[in-house]
Amino acid sequence: MNSWQYSESIESEKIVNIEKKYGNFIDGKFVTPKSKQYIDTISPSTEKILSSISIGNQQDVDYAVVSAKEGLKKWSKTAPSERAKYLFKLARLIQERSREFAVLESLDGGKPIKESRDFDLPQVAQNFFYYAGWADKLDIAWGNEKYKPYGVVGQIIPWNFPLLMLSWKVAPALATGNTVVLKPAETTPLTALLFAELCEEVGLPDGVFNLVTGDGSTGSHLVNHKDIKKIAFTGSTGVGKYIQKSLAGRDVGLTLELGGKAANIVYSDAALDEAVEGVVNGIFFNQGHVCCAGSRLLVQEDIEEKFIKKLEKRMQTLNVGNPLDKNTDVGAINSKDQLDKIEKLVNEGIADGGDLYQIECELPKNGFWFKPSLFTSVQANYKIATEEIFGPVLTTLTFRTPEEAVEIANNTEYGLSAGIWTEKGSKILWTADRLEAGVIWANTFNKFDPASPFGGYKESGFGREGGRHGLLSYLKVSS
Ligand code: NAP
Ligand code: MG
Repeated sequence: MNSWQYSESIESEKIVNIEKKYGNFIDGKFVTPKSKQYIDTISPSTEKILSSISIGNQQDVDYAVVSAKEGLKKWSKTAPSERAKYLFKLARLIQERSREFAVLESLDGGKPIKESRDFDLPQVAQNFFYYAGWADKLDIAWGNEKYKPYGVVGQIIPWNFPLLMLSWKVAPALATGNTVVLKPAETTPLTALLFAELCEEVGLPDGVFNLVTGDGSTGSHLVNHKDIKKIAFTGSTGVGKYIQKSLAGRDVGLTLELGGKAANIVYSDAALDEAVEGVVNGIFFNQGHVCCAGSRLLVQEDIEEKFIKKLEKRMQTLNVGNPLDKNTDVGAINSKDQLDKIEKLVNEGIADGGDLYQIECELPKNGFWFKPSLFTSVQANYKIATEEIFGPVLTTLTFRTPEEAVEIANNTEYGLSAGIWTEKGSKILWTADRLEAGVIWANTFNKFDPASPFGGYKESGFGREGGRHGLLSYLKVSS
């Protein structure tokens, strides 16, 4: 008997009300898709069908963009202090219904309830509070510089932090006076649909927030729509490049938040037990479905053996299983497709000559699962050392000197984040100065704050979300 099946600590699914079928949310109401097409969204931990969602086609996207253009007429005349009130109301409602949102996020996407409850949801509410606060202070933010909103913005988000990515995008876009057409990922649309219900509840003017669910084709219609003035995208580098090419030569704003292959650097003078915690959190948080995951462990050669032993021991304590169990540390892989990708890269790593350590645990029979894994004896040119696995798989590389650590850390197409573990402050500053990464954590990892900008260098994308810089992603210089 698995503890995850019968433990009393399991959060109740019954607290959420999931409709059998959802349309799109356009012009302030749920509407039947013109495409008449639907796709099931399942729970990746059980493969049980949760609901059926619309696959928006060109006509659905057209309808949403027309609605957002109409909405703009009202929204642009809404006083900034009034815009703030709507955002504050949304923030409060998200807080009130956060348990429901957390259960829905874990059911639809597979992440552990303790993460959706204690990480995603508090941050979602904070982002709305934070940008609500900016809405009537934009003149203070920029002094004499004059900016104006783009108008109708298209936002495309991935499946790893569905509601959190929505909040990173929707809150600053509305605070700065834009109207939105959002497309969530096809495997995790349910929290965005519940958010649309909240927009109705707070009486957000019709057309200010529009939601079209669907797959990549729906996203592509949005990107190529002639009346969209700005695209904000979070997802894979491949799709990001496609979007950039599609928009070439058009006067459309673009921000891209793409993939990563972050180095988590552990110097031999680090507090090793704390570093082990940080490395475990850096890669196994959210099953490693994290763009800024510390997926490359760079450990100083003289402590490699000792550190790996401690790490393996700690990994063995991770609870893998039912996302709704409050004791679960590692939940389900988001989809069969993603599981296939992880398995393929791990098999290539073994074939290349990497040593694979996996924890011993029983995995549930149904659903998509991958055991927390660690590669050692890895050469810098192996795919597992260069490509984003986006799963619970850590790749170890070693270094002798700080110079070598920096060289290896920067030897990647990506540049989203990095971690540094050392007791010496001067070494932190020296290393951080030389790392090509948008976010650098020292003696911690995966810490976020709504006031702090997040974004990448190189093929991790451009533009920033969060903080004052996040406002600029939704404003253009006024003529
Ligand atoms: P993805 O395939 O790029 O999908 C992201 C979003 O784009 C989804 O809504 C997807 O729809 C949509 N999409 C797919 N093809 C499209 C197209 N041709 N035109 C317009 N939209 C299209 O990425 P994913 O597999 O969902 O997410 C994983 C990737 O996202 C990882 O590489 C990760 O690093 C990156 N990511 C980055 C950040 C960041 O902040 N930098 C955050 C999270 C994730 P469907 O899902 O319905 O196909
Ligand atoms: Mg799902």
